[in-house]
Amino acid sequence: MQIPPFSLEAQISEIGDEIEEALIKVFRSGKYIGGEEVASFEKAFALAIETSYSVSCNSGTDALILALRALNIGQGDEVITSSFSFFATAEAITSVGARPVFVDIDSKNYLMDLDLIEKAITPRTKAILPVHLFGHPLDMDKIMAIAESNNLKVVEDCAQAAGAYWRGKPVGSYGDIGCFSFFPTKNLGAAGDGGAITTNDFDLAKTIRELAIHGMPKRYFHTNIGYNSRLDSLQAAILNVKLIRLNKWIEQRKEIAINYINQLSSIDSIELPSNTFVNNSGHSWNQFVIRIMDNSFIKNIKSNSDDVFDNLNRDLFKTELHRLGVNTIIYYPIPIHLQPAYKNLEYKEGSLPVTEKVCSQVISLPIFPELKSIQQSYVIDKIKELFKK
Ligand SMILES: *Cc1c(COP(=O)(O)O)cnc(C)c1O
Repeated sequence: MQIPPFSLEAQISEIGDEIEEALIKVFRSGKYIGGEEVASFEKAFALAIETSYSVSCNSGTDALILALRALNIGQGDEVITSSFSFFATAEAITSVGARPVFVDIDSKNYLMDLDLIEKAITPRTKAILPVHLFGHPLDMDKIMAIAESNNLKVVEDCAQAAGAYWRGKPVGSYGDIGCFSFFPTKNLGAAGDGGAITTNDFDLAKTIRELAIHGMPKRYFHTNIGYNSRLDSLQAAILNVKLIRLNKWIEQRKEIAINYINQLSSIDSIELPSNTFVNNSGHSWNQFVIRIMDNSFIKNIKSNSDDVFDNLNRDLFKTELHRLGVNTIIYYPIPIHLQPAYKNLEYKEGSLPVTEKVCSQVISLPIFPELKSIQQSYVIDKIKELFKK
């Protein structure tokens, strides 16, 4: 059996006809930029995230850049965030001219350690940029309290967390601005790039809408240096078909996640993702990430254990699973602060010990709504066999 880490094919058999119909409607309308589909998607997305406004754009990265620009964050400013994220989180901060300041993560949930935020605040700090990594919601009450008492803005990176919620409210509705990605592998994925911001602030929504269209509030009248960052009508049409199914898909992801947790909890050498939340909070399970804590599986493998890997235990485990037909991905092998592109920030190995340790141990198991139970059982059986005593 071959198990992919992620697959969109099964989804298309469910919604293919509706997508075809929606796409041909856009083609027939002749309106490829803006129009009805984009407007109705923005309205529906704001409703889903429980904010007053949503503005769509070209990607999750652009959503972050537009959010920071709208908050006037730029040269000389610092933004506190996590180094355990996709590169774009920090890249957005840098591309508006500001400096990312990384705090270490909590080894229990892999999210920014909230006890370290206040120590990282300087007179130049303008904002906190929390990342709901893998779909695990951060404690937004705590973050908003820290922001309020230090007069900081909050931009939530919800790229992996569409459908996650904290104390009964969706993530992306707490901060000044929430930023979402519709990259195909996210919980709500387009057939290409796409993104959106959410906010309750009319002025911020208006500024972001203008920045996304060349800083142009009126045709050919430019008040700002902006961007060309729009969600295509075709992508919006696809997202309209998918958005109404998001909650159902998250329920399916959750079932898969809980099954992994139940089935793998007897293996001491595996650290499972935390699945305990305060009341009315929930994970979106965009990724199911485990940590390989030792190499007790080595006696059961057929892969060549003399190969040289960066992180022997985890990489050897991944190689062996691959050999058995279980394909996995490492999110993320190198923390952002140790990326060559950021050597100017002068972090070194050891700067963020928990982040670095976790990066060397994580591996993401196959999870997507259409993963069949025989496929998941195969993954679980292979892992159990590897850790057989
Ligand atoms: C995917 C992702 C982004 C960037 O989104 P794009 O749509 O790919 O630009 C930003 N942050 C995180 C945490 C992501 O996973």
